[in-house]
Amino acid sequence: MRNVVDRLKKMRSEYFWINPRLCTACWRCIKVCPKRVIDRVGFLWHRHIIIQNAQECINCKKCIKICPHGVFSKEMPDIIKTFIEKRGIEL
Ligand code: SF4
Ligand code: SF4
Repeated sequence: MRNVVDRLKKMRSEYFWINPRLCTACWRCIKVCPKRVIDRVGFLWHRHIIIQNAQECINCKKCIKICPHGVFSKEMPDIIKTFIEKRGIEL
């Protein structure tokens, strides 16, 4: 369970959530982030961003503006909400 919680922490910063399912791994957000907050999962069939240094995020919103697929959102994505509700996880 702890492993799952640790993974969920990589889906958010203080200011936003990400929905990795929407990510097409263009890496534009990584290039514009001034604080190296965003990292990549780059396996052949499994490519998307993760939030690696959430504490460094300054909420400049550059990543949000440049993402063409709406990966970033203020609210927790439904897919994550359903996931944690089913498992009774508290964040
Ligand atoms: S800009 Fe959007 S689609 Fe591209 S890597 Fe970042 S989150 Fe994924
Ligand atoms: S809001 Fe700014 S600092 Fe935070 S992850 Fe996005 S680009 Fe990086």
